[in-house]
Amino acid sequence: MGRIWQAGLARLTNPLLWLGLALLFIGAPLQAKETAVRLGGVNYVSAEEFGARFGLKAHAAKSGRALTLKSIWTTLEIEADSRECSVNGLRVFLGNAPRLHRGRLLISRVDAEKLFTPVLLAGLDEKNVPALRTIVIDPGHGGRDPGKENHRLHVNEKTMVLDTAMRLQRVLESLGYRVILTRTDDRHLGEDKTADLLKRNLIAKQAGADLFISLHYNAVGSNAQRVTGVEVYTLTPQHQYSTADPEHDDDKGAAELNAGNAFDHWNMLIGYHVHRRMIEELGASDRGLKRARWAVLRHAECPGILIEAGFLSNDAETRKIMTPAYRQKIAEAIAHGVQAYGAVLAGVMKQRAGQ
Ligand SMILES: [Zn+2]
Repeated sequence: MGRIWQAGLARLTNPLLWLGLALLFIGAPLQAKETAVRLGGVNYVSAEEFGARFGLKAHAAKSGRALTLKSIWTTLEIEADSRECSVNGLRVFLGNAPRLHRGRLLISRVDAEKLFTPVLLAGLDEKNVPALRTIVIDPGHGGRDPGKENHRLHVNEKTMVLDTAMRLQRVLESLGYRVILTRTDDRHLGEDKTADLLKRNLIAKQAGADLFISLHYNAVGSNAQRVTGVEVYTLTPQHQYSTADPEHDDDKGAAELNAGNAFDHWNMLIGYHVHRRMIEELGASDRGLKRARWAVLRHAECPGILIEAGFLSNDAETRKIMTPAYRQKIAEAIAHGVQAYGAVLAGVMKQRAGQ
């Protein structure tokens, strides 16, 4: 369905049509008569009323515990007490699980505004539209920090991400973007881990980055031969909790406003488009679009994502990652996601120029 929205965007060159679309969707701020409920310190809105604002029809299932919100462009599937939802068939993790309250399914206001609205409005209601010319790719780890390792197959993350980053650089450059890597060889970027991570953001800032993409490969300790697939992370919005993951979670920072939160709307859009292309093109299992307060995303001064492109703890997936052909496929899928995000930005600019 997302693809139809994309194609629709590309075809909507008539400014009048755009204006009509914009007027249809904007006016999105919560209406006074709409349901607003505070439960457990979290503000919720009615999922059905939220959907109706965007022309989505609600279809209930499981005695009202699950809801499908559907238009010709978008299908959202949510369920009470589950942080996992589906956006156009993709796994996406909400900041708060929807709640069933007095017969209505509620979604948190932050999820409504920071997760669903970007997909539904694609920037149409945003004041500042980012440029997309300079892209900084950040191959994680390096030097004395190998990242994740598969000792059985003698391969580590720092080597695989550097090669993937260089492939992504070539693909993006061929599409006309200016591309800078945070490292182009096997090195650590600071005295310690904190300095190393800050340096990555500094390089992006000095390059005047419009987009920051941090590249990683993943690993799990248990169920290693069963867990495979792609995860894409965006920065957790203020006041929300990161997607549950004991190793990476940073819930202590929930109340904190980070620099990267200025781009919540665009973070979600780039995350959504890259995640979508990676799942579609790689045939990899969908581990979901998730939120975490990774340092490189917290300090980013432009929209950014962190990609975990596969599991080095899984031997079958590692063997794939070890082939240049699969790493090239990963690079191309990411680049196609960047292009789709670029098409959204161009669409918004075109709409504004026509006003
Ligand atoms: Zn890593």
